[in-house]
Amino acid sequence: MTTNWRVIGIHNVGLWKDKTVPAISQKPENSVRLVLMSDTHGSHECFDVPVGDVFLFAGDLSDTGTPAEIGSFASWVNSLPHPVRVVIAGNHDVSMHGDYYEKNFRRYHGQRKLDASKEIARLRSVCTLLENSETTVPTPVGPLRVWGSPWSVEFCSWAFNLRSDELLPTWGKIPEGVDIVITHGPCRGHGATVMDSGVDVGDPALLSELIARVKPAMHVSGHIHEGYSVSSEAGITFINASSVDYFYRPVNRAIVVDIAPKK
Ligand code: 5GP
Ligand code: MN
Ligand code: MN
Repeated sequence: MTTNWRVIGIHNVGLWKDKTVPAISQKPENSVRLVLMSDTHGSHECFDVPVGDVFLFAGDLSDTGTPAEIGSFASWVNSLPHPVRVVIAGNHDVSMHGDYYEKNFRRYHGQRKLDASKEIARLRSVCTLLENSETTVPTPVGPLRVWGSPWSVEFCSWAFNLRSDELLPTWGKIPEGVDIVITHGPCRGHGATVMDSGVDVGDPALLSELIARVKPAMHVSGHIHEGYSVSSEAGITFINASSVDYFYRPVNRAIVVDIAPKK
């Protein structure tokens, strides 16, 4: 089984300040417009978000997952015009990884363990929060299956971190035939090169699994801020939608993708 969808247009890739980025054209007939962001780290209010049918967010919505940060993000998501919003957490959203936060809260919040449960519940009420799970988005041109995970390859023992080999069983459970896969970390070779070392830290296991078995139309990530980009391999479009840059400055545009059912 493979995806029933294909990417037919990608718009708005670039910096806010770059006036040469073309205006977003009208959505083609019989397509679904997706709006992609990631890694706002608390600066969500700084962004103009283009309209679309589905809003997708690939994690690191906060700096350290405080109730105030998550509450503010939830209010912002609720204010978006998109009828469907699909969100995953990232390694910075530490309070959203319950067991991890229980053991590690001192590293982020001193002696005071914070309770973000109300804000997380509010976030869940304004979007679909995926955690190694799938949602089917009903659209006028057919159902769109989205699978998402906050987990990424181990780096400095943050939340939702495991080694690539430890993540294999999780990637092995991504259902074949899902149309969009959204994970916080990028795949090897796709928006995954770290600026200071020049090393590609993308997940090779996830890349293999997507190419050889899952075959989605698109993979969406963030995490490596300087990897903000669009690329493709084996018929899959890979988008690193990081909204902030290496210095956590809110500079990158939300990426707009039009997808349509295969003919
Ligand atoms: P964050 O802390 O927001 O998850 O990631 C911010 C930045 O940390 C990235 O843009 C990247 O420069 C760096 N970074 C994140 N993960 C890794 C990793 O696995 N290896 C290396 N070398 N740098 C990383
Ligand atoms: Mn980040
Ligand atoms: Mn991250």
